[in-house]
Amino acid sequence: MIKFNRTKTEKAKAAVASLKAVKAVNGNYNTPEVNAALAEMFCGKCYICENKEGITSFQIEHLKAHKGDAELKYDWNNLFWACAHCNNIKRVEDEPILDCTQVDVEKK
Ligand SMILES: [Zn+2]
Repeated sequence: MIKFNRTKTEKAKAAVASLKAVKAVNGNYNTPEVNAALAEMFCGKCYICENKEGITSFQIEHLKAHKGDAELKYDWNNLFWACAHCNNIKRVEDEPILDCTQVDVEKK
């Protein structure tokens, strides 16, 4: 797994702004801006299996489970891009997992 940089691109800035707006109304974090920014940041790949080809559905994944925690739910730094398969098999019991935007996983 490669390290991804959570750089402040225009798409990332738009995603953060959209998260702020939906957080204010306890809305859905699954905004077009967030999807576009995550796809850009993770180069269109699932951050867990790194697949890109043949994946029919990507989902917004929370690195740290957000249940009951609005800060984690809408925190841009907690949002990752995962294929539906990986998102569905990752469980709370798997935490903590390495944050590939903070550490160079290949050097671990
Ligand atoms: Zn995957």
